[in-house]
Amino acid sequence: MKKIFNTTADQMPNILRLELTNTCNMSCPHCRHHSPEKKLPENYPEYYKHASHISDNQVKQIFDEIGPYKPSVTLNVANETLVAKSFKFAVKELKKHDCSGTFNTNGLLLNNDMCEFLVENEFDSVNISIDAVKKETLKKARGITAIDKLIRNVKRLVEIRGDNKFPRVGVTFVIMPYNEKEIPEFLNFWKNIVDVIRFTGYITDKQPDMTVLPGVVQEKIPARIPCKQIFRDIVIRANGDVTPCVITSEAPQYISMGNVFKDGGIKKVWNGKKFLEWRNNHNKSCWDDISYCKGCHYWVESYKVKEKETDEFLIRSPSPYTVFYNVKKKLQNWDREKLIDRQGFGEKNFGAIDSIANYDI
Ligand code: SF4
Repeated sequence: MKKIFNTTADQMPNILRLELTNTCNMSCPHCRHHSPEKKLPENYPEYYKHASHISDNQVKQIFDEIGPYKPSVTLNVANETLVAKSFKFAVKELKKHDCSGTFNTNGLLLNNDMCEFLVENEFDSVNISIDAVKKETLKKARGITAIDKLIRNVKRLVEIRGDNKFPRVGVTFVIMPYNEKEIPEFLNFWKNIVDVIRFTGYITDKQPDMTVLPGVVQEKIPARIPCKQIFRDIVIRANGDVTPCVITSEAPQYISMGNVFKDGGIKKVWNGKKFLEWRNNHNKSCWDDISYCKGCHYWVESYKVKEKETDEFLIRSPSPYTVFYNVKKKLQNWDREKLIDRQGFGEKNFGAIDSIANYDI
């Protein structure tokens, strides 16, 4: 049988996801980490029971090693990054090494000082989770009713940015049964304010299962291919542990491929035995030998990003899980080469997979 997959990882990851702290200042009912239900002593994983903060020195150590490789950086994993003690230092380190950066935030701490800091440092992109149009819906999604405050904070960032190019500002919406009716209104409202609007399918506590996503037809799901997460992204938790991918960082069972502070640094862990084992299994189509990957549908993101244009939007979709509506009038800070797969822009070749990408879900 013709072997079509043999994907290799670069010696250093193309994407760095860095969790500066494992804490959050909210407790959203739909959060897989810090919801009130998840915080019950019997449910809350050990990892979250004690606050961890990456120190400035550790941030420096990370960027000194990976900065020269110019990864695309996301400054959060399962947390609110604006409460991290090293947040501002990390932004400065990232820019010092001329990397592109992004993060998601719940938006509560986007005050004048923070917005000015982000604009002054030409931070590349900021995504604010909103998830609702109405107060009652926000209450269901985020446990608060302060929609006006969130709108004010997003507008503040856009206003302080003024004629400056960065940051690119986006809002995000996780689609749930209780908010899906608000999608058209959400898009209509925000297209006049921000640069990009992102919709994401909810990933349940179990594993990403694309068959439950709206619009996905089982018969049209393409053939499974290796998952680019383990060839491209490194996910560093606030204690220095590296999880194999963004999905396993959210799994109730804790898993680590090594610790960047204790096991010789990023390159050592990234090219270590555990990552090689996972990658070999994927290249041999033996993903089912890995309990985390068996039944996980997130591999579909390995296919090429789909792109479509309308009068108003450049719509990009890396998979049925995510759709970015880039407002066409606001593409001045759009860069296809940078911020890989972030903000609906950015694309970097991914080995052989691109050349066979043709799925259409
Ligand atoms: S298939 Fe799922 S669990 Fe496996 S590496 Fe990809 S995202 Fe992670």
